[in-house]
Amino acid sequence: MPKMADNRTHLVLENYIGGMFVPCSRHIDSYDPSTGEVYCRVPDSDKEEVEAAVKAAKEAFPEWSSKSPAERAKVLHKLADLIEAHLEEFALAESKDQGKTITFARTVDIPRSAHNFRFFASSVLHHTTDCSQMDHMGCVNYTVRSPVGVAGLISPWNLPLYLLTWKIAPAIATGNTVVAKPSEMTSVTAWMMCKLLEEAGMPPGVVNIVFGTGPRAGDALVSHPDVPLISFTGSTGTARVITEHSAPYCKKLSLELGGKNPAIIFQDANLEECIATTVRSSFSNQGEICLCTSRIFVERSIYPEFLQKFVEAAQRWRTGVPTDTSSDNGALISKEHLEKVRGYVKLAQAEGGKVHCGEGVDTLELPERNQNGYFMPPTVITDVTDTSRCMQEEIFGPVTCVVPFDSEEEVIRRANGVKYGLSATVWSRDVGRVHRVARSLQAGLVWTNCWLIRDLNLPFGGMKSSGVGREGGQDSYHFFTEVKTITIKH
Ligand code: NDP
Repeated sequence: MPKMADNRTHLVLENYIGGMFVPCSRHIDSYDPSTGEVYCRVPDSDKEEVEAAVKAAKEAFPEWSSKSPAERAKVLHKLADLIEAHLEEFALAESKDQGKTITFARTVDIPRSAHNFRFFASSVLHHTTDCSQMDHMGCVNYTVRSPVGVAGLISPWNLPLYLLTWKIAPAIATGNTVVAKPSEMTSVTAWMMCKLLEEAGMPPGVVNIVFGTGPRAGDALVSHPDVPLISFTGSTGTARVITEHSAPYCKKLSLELGGKNPAIIFQDANLEECIATTVRSSFSNQGEICLCTSRIFVERSIYPEFLQKFVEAAQRWRTGVPTDTSSDNGALISKEHLEKVRGYVKLAQAEGGKVHCGEGVDTLELPERNQNGYFMPPTVITDVTDTSRCMQEEIFGPVTCVVPFDSEEEVIRRANGVKYGLSATVWSRDVGRVHRVARSLQAGLVWTNCWLIRDLNLPFGGMKSSGVGREGGQDSYHFFTEVKTITIKH
């Protein structure tokens, strides 16, 4: 496993191309969000490095794609075993690199990364293709599916290894080879995974990772003529650029984007369970999950009680040093992001909003060495209008707005009144209402009386500006393969 390189005592990462670690002459500083100090140097790759990685992936494609799904699955299972065997090292690295708590990395990020490989290793063994009879024409039709080629995978910083493996696993399980570019702010665990690939039996060139910024390395991948498919998770703004830059090549695109997710809480909800879950859905991972709740609509009759109990619960959600197992939240990803999130709180106040807890209300007690870290306590805002920027734009931090509503019809209209459509939660004991509301919401995922329970077989993705396409068992299989219809006249 990786050791700290002695380059001004910083960890220095290298690209992984064609089964080898390849140093890069240019680097970007990467910060420990809990201290604000540089601790790692990440390759600042450009066209040249991407070109080499695509070449390696192209060369590896014929052999990898001709293996049976079972042979490929064996490699994926072994990689999952190795990640699990090194779970603690991965969790520590993810926590240090991203700012998230060690507990979250240990229980969510890293186990799920291993599970992504296991899930697609198994899933790929069970697909069937379609067949249709046309006896009146003397024909039979059937479909076959083949891997697409070199897949370009671009992932964000909030769930670094989790989201990267969510793309790599289905891409290679279905026989593609890949060039991946993680966020330059959180590249360490991807680099650590590369150290395990050879032992897992991954042939050189099947998985290539090029580190660097979006506008340089990411864009070189998006604009490369030999990369016919791009799977991207990130912001809606970047997705627009990717769509434009890939358009001349008619690439296959999967875009998993931002959200402005509502929670709708009816007066008959189990309030205790609802509050505990809504605090988690609003603030987990510092609110840096695309599925986090950021607009809470509460039926007026229970609004005062809900607000009081919710604010109390938010104040109990402890923000602290990521390595402390009693911390519920760690630090935000960067200074710029912290300023952006704080800016939304100021904006809400300028528009007449009231801040009940968190930013500007509660003070954090942090050790001396964490005083320059990017910490922010859970913040609850009320008295904002639906058209305010805090109720319309993705904040992607530990900030949520609570507003009252009067009727089912009204709340559906208001919940749908944003450009996003990723996820929603509905809280009610009325089974008819739960079905009605879930059906009416413009969201790719609706959780009722729960949050974040996922069956990976089922589609994941958003409507409207939250994305294009879906990922998950059958959907990932379809995305990472090309289908062909064959007609046989007999
Ligand atoms: P960004 O869109 O800024 O970046 C995502 C990735 O795209 C990064 O690797 C980034 O590189 C890269 N990138 C940036 N510009 C370009 C470009 N011109 N061409 C190619 N690649 C580029 O998102 P964030 O990293 O800030 O992630 C947060 C966003 O991700 C939020 O909006 C969140 O909602 C969304 N998200 C969506 C999820 C979903 O499943 N729907 C899940 C998780 C997050 P670099 O960072 O190196 O510049």
